[in-house]
Amino acid sequence: MRLIRQIISWPLDFALPRRCAGCGGIQPFIGDFCASCWLQLDQITGAGCLRCATPIQEAGLICATCLAHPPDHDGVLAAVDYGPIARRLVLRLKYGRKPQFAHVMARLMARHAAAYPDALLIPVPLHWTRLWQRGFNQSLLIARCVASHTGQLVHPQALVRTRRTRPLGRLSQKDRAIEVRGVFRLANGFGSLVQGKDVLLVDDVYTSGATANACAKLLKRNGAQSVRILCWARVVIDAP
Ligand SMILES: [Zn+2]
Ligand SMILES: [Zn+2]
Repeated sequence: MRLIRQIISWPLDFALPRRCAGCGGIQPFIGDFCASCWLQLDQITGAGCLRCATPIQEAGLICATCLAHPPDHDGVLAAVDYGPIARRLVLRLKYGRKPQFAHVMARLMARHAAAYPDALLIPVPLHWTRLWQRGFNQSLLIARCVASHTGQLVHPQALVRTRRTRPLGRLSQKDRAIEVRGVFRLANGFGSLVQGKDVLLVDDVYTSGATANACAKLLKRNGAQSVRILCWARVVIDAP
């Protein structure tokens, strides 16, 4: 009920005067943001490692980390770097329960998604206990908003999270991979769906890639032709 009330109140949240999605200010706008927040949003234009999108000196190359440990996915399509403004939107969406921010994120993600018009959009699932607590899966909301721009098909039920994981932020890279091992499975009947298909795995933030990689590995094992990570923001992690 609470979510339904929030959905109904979306237009009210953006009622006149229109407010910047970053700071709430009412200055002149560029898209959903005021000029100042727009400039602070570090939009990713394609330069960076071909696999993980980490900034590197020359575009079109693969970074040392990905060369040493090639990810199972085929690349990260992130709209922005995870700076203060990008983070604020994530927190408002997830913990402030403001689903309208999924639209703001999706508007900047859609151009990346549109490069793969036939791809299936599969959101990273939450464990059912987390879904029950939060009331919605932010990745699914974002995926649906992206699809409203691109016309791609969203498959919310394709992946299942079989157990709850500890927060990955406090774990080492190696422990993150261990923590998510065997956590995901493909729902019954979805094996044939992903066979030979390009998949865009939708998430809000790409951090270490452990979760995305576990999902990508599973999808590829079930015949997906390619799996790219479509996310709002990418966190740049210093090399361990
Ligand atoms: Zn602003
Ligand atoms: Zn890389």
